[in-house]
Amino acid sequence: MTGPDVDGPGGDLPAGLDEAVLRDRVHHVRDRIAELTDRPVRIVAVTKTHPSSVVDLALRAGLVDLAENYAQELRAKAGDLGGAASTQRPRWHFVGRLQTNKVRMIAPFVWCWESVDRESVAAEIARRSPGGRVLVQVDLAGVAGRGGCDAADAPALVERCRALGLDVVGLMGVGAPGGPEAARPGFVRLVELADDLGLEERSIGMSGDYEVAVEVGATSVRLGSALFGPRATVPRPGW
Ligand SMILES: *Cc1c(COP(=O)(O)O)cnc(C)c1O
Repeated sequence: MTGPDVDGPGGDLPAGLDEAVLRDRVHHVRDRIAELTDRPVRIVAVTKTHPSSVVDLALRAGLVDLAENYAQELRAKAGDLGGAASTQRPRWHFVGRLQTNKVRMIAPFVWCWESVDRESVAAEIARRSPGGRVLVQVDLAGVAGRGGCDAADAPALVERCRALGLDVVGLMGVGAPGGPEAARPGFVRLVELADDLGLEERSIGMSGDYEVAVEVGATSVRLGSALFGPRATVPRPGW
């Protein structure tokens, strides 16, 4: 059994994945979205745990918005692109728990900070990436380790981010576990909160619950396994 190779561009593509397969999956997702809404919905492709060859493949398949949830992994993959054949540059989204001391390392690469859930992180982003584009992450289910501020604290954090000069474009949330219907109430609350705050972007929905998220008002869905297949569950190589 081999673990994920996130160290460089040499890693093999996951079994069964090639450009045609990926294009098919992207078409399928776009078709489903179009059946559910007339609004444009951004597909953010989550490449975490996959090798840099998957990043290349995603770009060739026309995906532009890519996401990672570990700072080191994002930096490694963004760095690898220097040697890649693709001329297309991804817009990197950071979607993981953000440690203040990692912000500086990835600031040159990140296009959208989706997981801002506390003032210390916001302040560091403002320092390393003045005017940076951010989403405030709201905890929708008390899911341990997933991050996010309490919904009640979100308005004040949005204000604080703005005071720091950050460009707050929306809210992000991870659906409650237990399937799409378990996630729905939290998604609805996030959309209402975004409405109240006058925020346009609602980054909700992952592979298992993106259809419900789109139904209730997602403007952005974050998809990993629906595009790239299952991830290896072995631990990452030690960073
Ligand atoms: C891994 C991850 C995703 C994608 O998960 P899938 O279920 O594979 O689509 C989306 N959002 C965040 C924050 C993640 O960590």
